Amino acid sequence: MSNLHHDDHIYFAGGVHPEEGKYLSESKAIQEAPLLDSYTVILNQHIGAPPKLIVKKGDAVKKGQLLAEAGGFVSAPVHSPTSGTVRNIEDCPGPMGVPLLAVVIDSDGKDEWGSSLEPIADWENTSPDDLKKRISDAGLVGMGGAAFPTHVKLSPPPEKKIDHLIFNGAECEPYLTADHRLMLEYPESVVEGCAIIARVLGVKNIYIGIEANKPDAIKVLREKAASFGVNIIALRVRYPQGAEKQLIYAVTGRKVPAGGLPMDAGCVVQNIGTAVAVTEAVKEGKPLFERVTTVTGEPLANPGNWKFRIGTPVSKAIELAGGVKYSPAKVILGGPMMGFAQKNLQVPVMKNTSGILLLSKEQLVQYESYPCIRCGRCVDACPMNIIPGPLSTMIESGEFELAEKNNLMHCIECGSCAYVCPSFRPLVQHFRRGKAEINARKRKMKK
Ligand code: SF4
Ligand code: SF4
Repeated sequence: MSNLHHDDHIYFAGGVHPEEGKYLSESKAIQEAPLLDSYTVILNQHIGAPPKLIVKKGDAVKKGQLLAEAGGFVSAPVHSPTSGTVRNIEDCPGPMGVPLLAVVIDSDGKDEWGSSLEPIADWENTSPDDLKKRISDAGLVGMGGAAFPTHVKLSPPPEKKIDHLIFNGAECEPYLTADHRLMLEYPESVVEGCAIIARVLGVKNIYIGIEANKPDAIKVLREKAASFGVNIIALRVRYPQGAEKQLIYAVTGRKVPAGGLPMDAGCVVQNIGTAVAVTEAVKEGKPLFERVTTVTGEPLANPGNWKFRIGTPVSKAIELAGGVKYSPAKVILGGPMMGFAQKNLQVPVMKNTSGILLLSKEQLVQYESYPCIRCGRCVDACPMNIIPGPLSTMIESGEFELAEKNNLMHCIECGSCAYVCPSFRPLVQHFRRGKAEINARKRKMKK
């Protein structure tokens, strides 16, 4: 699809324009996955404290029933994706390669509703605190990436004055089309969710930023948005346009200070999927036990967008998408720029699983890496004004303090530098490792 005109805004320097790959699934309507015999629901699906299990082996559960309650303020409860019996509570493969505790539910085939959350019909006259409590009770987390509990983002400290609420409809990761389809097929839920969250925050400036390569979504949302006071902005198509800092800059012209958060620029940023989940949690009393995920890639027989229950194994998701035409060289959870490669396909769909991407051998050639040739392309591509090449060398040689002084902690892990690197250097992996090392050292020093 050709890129159409974007609204006249200011844009970040750097970034890249990778092959989009969205043609494989962007025109495929969301399909509801059939009920499975069992689901494996990982307990700790979010950033923060793990939830506390409240069911045990052998318990009967219903769809939407609480399996584990929040384990603190920065935490989120987990709910059953269907009715049935708790077969076991056991470790299962996690998306980062580390086993995670999960509740295995055997479905009884009845799919009986059992949410304890009552629908709130008149949310416009419901207090912001009650709406926020609903968002928390429904187990909502950011569905586009890091899975940060939504109610925490909606609780800025009093000294941080929030005046802009921005929704990320950019979906700038190549191949992913789940948010695009949500905007096309659930436009009312998208804009109503935006308005509900705005009421929680007491914010009047509400924006959805959408990359200009989705003119159909921009048109549909513009028709629905005005009645809820939501503004739709067509954004330039450039990765990582959907990253929080780049999105805030395009919409408001404000820069988030180095090392700061969106709230330091008076903004809260949320994802499109979260807006839809908020509408369902409030109006239907529906906890977050299913989500729309793109299953795609050239090796796949029938790429598309699916509504999966949380706990669906990736292997099953691939099977539902027609299986493979030929063996993929890599399976990634998320998109190719920021996603995580998976070895074990029994890993289940989680609240933040935006995509399941299969890559062919040809696409993987770039994963063999060579020494840095100091070409400087990564410097031009970095949207955060970092100098990635030398920074990665510092981390390789264990010079973590020096790396920190050279702005390692400002890296948003967008992958633009690695994308343009002619030596195919694994820059993002280096930066993730460097940050983890620095954070571990800081924690040790605090103790
Ligand atoms: S250094 Fe970090 S922020 Fe800059 S391009 Fe690379 S991954 Fe993105
Ligand atoms: S793009 Fe790659 S080869 Fe070029 S300077 Fe950066 S790290 Fe080195």
